[in-house]
Amino acid sequence: MIPDTHTTALDRLAQQAHHERTLFDYPPREWVPPRLRDGERVLDVVIVGGGQNGIAAASGLQQARVPNLLMLDENPEGREGPWVTYARMITLRTIKTLPGPALKVPALSFQSWYEAQYGADAWEALVRIPREMWMAYLGWIRQTLAIPTMHGTRLELIEPDDGLLRLTVRTSAGTQHILTRKVVLATGSTGAGGRNIPAFVEQKLPRDRWAHSAQSIDFAALQGKDVAVLGAGASAFDNAATALEAGAARVDLYMRRATLPEMNSARFMEFEGLYRHFAEMDSLVRWRFMRKIFASPMPPPPDTFLRTTAFPNFHMHFESAWEDVGLRDDGTIELVTPTGTHTADFAILGTGFAANLARRPELAAVLPHVALWGDRFVPPAGEESPAIARFPFLGAGFELTERTPGECPEVADIHMFNGGALPSMGPIGLGINGMAHGTERLVRGITRDFYLRDAERFCAEFLAYDVPEAKLVPAPVAMPSPSPT
Ligand SMILES: Cc1cc2nc3c(=O)[nH]c(=O)nc-3n(C[C@H](O)[C@H](O)[C@H](O)COP(=O)(O)OP(=O)(O)OC[C@H]3O[C@@H](n4cnc5c(N)ncnc54)[C@H](O)[C@@H]3O)c2cc1C
Repeated sequence: MIPDTHTTALDRLAQQAHHERTLFDYPPREWVPPRLRDGERVLDVVIVGGGQNGIAAASGLQQARVPNLLMLDENPEGREGPWVTYARMITLRTIKTLPGPALKVPALSFQSWYEAQYGADAWEALVRIPREMWMAYLGWIRQTLAIPTMHGTRLELIEPDDGLLRLTVRTSAGTQHILTRKVVLATGSTGAGGRNIPAFVEQKLPRDRWAHSAQSIDFAALQGKDVAVLGAGASAFDNAATALEAGAARVDLYMRRATLPEMNSARFMEFEGLYRHFAEMDSLVRWRFMRKIFASPMPPPPDTFLRTTAFPNFHMHFESAWEDVGLRDDGTIELVTPTGTHTADFAILGTGFAANLARRPELAAVLPHVALWGDRFVPPAGEESPAIARFPFLGAGFELTERTPGECPEVADIHMFNGGALPSMGPIGLGINGMAHGTERLVRGITRDFYLRDAERFCAEFLAYDVPEAKLVPAPVAMPSPSPT
């Protein structure tokens, strides 16, 4: 929530952002020819997901003169994405100076937003961005850019409809249908699948005794309890820390690995060449990048690690992935690991996300027609990876591709600007680091399709173009006087 005293400064900054955008708003023509269905104009783009990617996509499309769009999010306003819902770190994990969704408009940068309210010295002193502030900043951009948004609106189904896409959405008022030419699925980490949950946990533990780290958890209820966390990534540690801070009696963190991961493969990938051109690499090379990423999970950030290890009642168990779980007669959870059997009152799964399009109800109608990596690429012997093979095989603008060409061309109008893009596009579809590059590529893909589908029409209009240029009358040149110094 932005304090009232800061709103004037933010209003001024919003005006500056509009001004900066007008400095680069050539050519201003809205150029996408309208498409009508039953006499009504259909939307050009529906963006599903009002988080940072959805906002950046909308902003990029506005800049490309594709303003006939709508953004929707199932969450209420101000609660899009993980930042104030299930993210449990104190600050963002990434550095404060990433360009994020500003898309080269300086006044839209986080730094400008922060300095407008707290001043340049405070910015210098800031180490990392508090996650609640990141949420407030994203909301400010959405409002500043007047992105048309429907909150509390869940996309349930996408169906091809004679060259368009027909969306079924659910709101508190009921079910609605929306026709659009394109859909951008800016649906986040789970956008191409869901949470990674071991089947035996779901089958053997009552639902109120466990949670995935990306779900809401009543930490106050864990006071005085023994909590078991599975996983060695940043979210596992954040959840362990939150439980400890809430007064858990002890927290045990279990991991498959013999040591904590130390290397962060994302660090290597942070350079312009890769962000711009990963998607153009040969499939085998992309596959090899992915195998390395999948084999090297990110270590917890140092401050996250210290946040947990500061507690004497925090314990780590290496080479101790859960092999089975059960509920004892006394009501405690039993955890079977290769290093022994343990107990807990509550279990938290910091097990991340997995791609599996079959888990996305909105894709059910098009799923049989969608090409996955496993359909398009056969890895060399010894380099197989079922986990990567399940990802969608995307085209150059984040679009789904057809499994059998010609069967359902509309799938190419669904753009996966979410966690499902990783093997095809590299690290530009999810995360603040690569989002400027991802947005540029996404928007170019969308405008490419819109332009090329009407190329003959543009050509015909050009051949018929016969508008005389206004007669040039030499205007008196008024030189401005230099400003007094
Ligand atoms: C805990 C956590 C911490 C992270 N920290 C960082 C970090 O510090 N730095 C960094 O660079 N990256 C971080 N990331 C990675 C990434 O930046 C975030 O996941 C970020 O939220 C991705 O933004 P997004 O807009 O793509 O998706 P999200 O922010 O997840 O937004 C997706 C939105 O889509 C909506 N949605 C999904 N399905 C539907 C549907 N069917 N209908 C309607 N709406 C729907 C959701 O409600 C959600 O609001 C973090 C991720 C997590 C999970």
